[in-house]
Amino acid sequence: MSYYEQIMPPVRDQRLKIGDSFAGNAREMIECAKSGCMLRHNRLFWQTGACQMSLSLMMASTVERSVIVMHGPIGCGAQLHALSVQGNKGKSKRGKAPVPPVWLSTNLQESDVIGGGEIKLHRTIEYADREFRPEIIFVVSTCAPNIIGDDVEEIVRKAQESSAAHVVSLHCPGFKSRVVASAYDAFYHGLLRHLPLTPEPWRDFIPNTAGGQRDIGQVEYELVRSRTINLWNATSIGPGDEEELIRLLGALGLKVRVFAEYSSADELRQVSQAALNVSMCNVHDDYMLSFLEEKFDIPYIIVGMPIGFSDTRQWLKSIAARFGQEEDAERLADHEEERARKAIGPFLPKIQGKRVLLCGGVVRVGTEAIFLKELGMDVLTLRAFHYESGAEAIYERVSENFPNTRIAVSNQSFEFCNQIKRLKPDLVISHNGTQGVLAKLGVPSVQLFDVDRSFFAYNGLFSLLQRIVFAFKNTSYQKRLSAHVKFPYRESWYDRDAFHYIKD
Ligand code: SF4
Repeated sequence: MSYYEQIMPPVRDQRLKIGDSFAGNAREMIECAKSGCMLRHNRLFWQTGACQMSLSLMMASTVERSVIVMHGPIGCGAQLHALSVQGNKGKSKRGKAPVPPVWLSTNLQESDVIGGGEIKLHRTIEYADREFRPEIIFVVSTCAPNIIGDDVEEIVRKAQESSAAHVVSLHCPGFKSRVVASAYDAFYHGLLRHLPLTPEPWRDFIPNTAGGQRDIGQVEYELVRSRTINLWNATSIGPGDEEELIRLLGALGLKVRVFAEYSSADELRQVSQAALNVSMCNVHDDYMLSFLEEKFDIPYIIVGMPIGFSDTRQWLKSIAARFGQEEDAERLADHEEERARKAIGPFLPKIQGKRVLLCGGVVRVGTEAIFLKELGMDVLTLRAFHYESGAEAIYERVSENFPNTRIAVSNQSFEFCNQIKRLKPDLVISHNGTQGVLAKLGVPSVQLFDVDRSFFAYNGLFSLLQRIVFAFKNTSYQKRLSAHVKFPYRESWYDRDAFHYIKD
């Protein structure tokens, strides 16, 4: 049975070769993953882990005119308060009404864990439909109902019979996967199983009398469709990056629509009406894009992130090649590069030779490290939060560029602090949420992604370098703060190797 026919989405631990604990060079990492030994690596000590449900929620909370029903203890939805601010900002920057997400919880108690939470869930879905009249109700199934065996899919099926909204189940028990990236698949699995992804007659088009699709404008419609691209976004990709890529693809005469975050049910019905699906990250969309190829025969492209000169050129060329426009893409890249190189010229002497450590998403850190090396920065190491086979092509290039550099797969804070203390980088480019720790360690930092700023293509590389230069300008805040902050680790921890606790 195909994954898409299953009620529960597969976690990446089953579907791909992944890992969350590794230290060694890039070649060793690739070989370890290929041989299947990556997931056997573990730690004798773990500080904390992340829950895959959190990323599914991040995506669902951006979908327009939706309501989220959290099926679980009330605490599982706590992050929605923070997501509300982030989502509102994302909506208003994309020209949409900044309406905060509505969410309800079945608030499972001890007695529900014994007696089951199905009745509560059914009532909550009915209430959400009646009270808020949403277009979509996301039912997020957390750890507790998956442990006690609630039949969430059956409740969703029954509730759908009496609901005006589309009821979409998102199965994402946090305990089931060691990597949070499983959350992307869980979100897409819900969309592809429960939402209509084709245009509806009379709602989206006028059917012709012979029962065909369109009476008027058929030729024009097909022409537009043959030049339309679906671009698949992610929470970490801001509107500035989307705009930059739409600008570049528009220069090639292509029409671009962005999915699935910040989309509505009406927009999602158009997903099947495109000539090509394009991902902006190797580890984000393959599950959905393979489905769209299988179901609607739409080819897809996943060729890394358009960060830096060579990756942006490659990304544009790969897309253009599908439309027979590779030469146009080369000319566009030549023109844009010339302008961008002039613009970043004054920054280069200020960053060259500086020692940098990169930490965060596996694709971004690898791609950005190669680009910063090209510009003359001294990349000390990379630290990816997880590794999976989708990132292999990038790590082949990391291996060529940094054959002897020890890199790590780690999302553990104690290991991070140890690395910073021992390696003493001039700058850390790091995942959001780590900037406070880095300031306390006395190190200037730049966010690896920030939805308020640009990172992709030519605007992005200029913006990134500008921020790196700015970070070096005045480091007194970090110096003063670090003089007054004590970390909870013994001094002896810093004498040990950062990855002392990783064991096979
Ligand atoms: S790990 Fe489970 S219990 Fe914890 S927040 Fe995630 S879904 Fe809820």
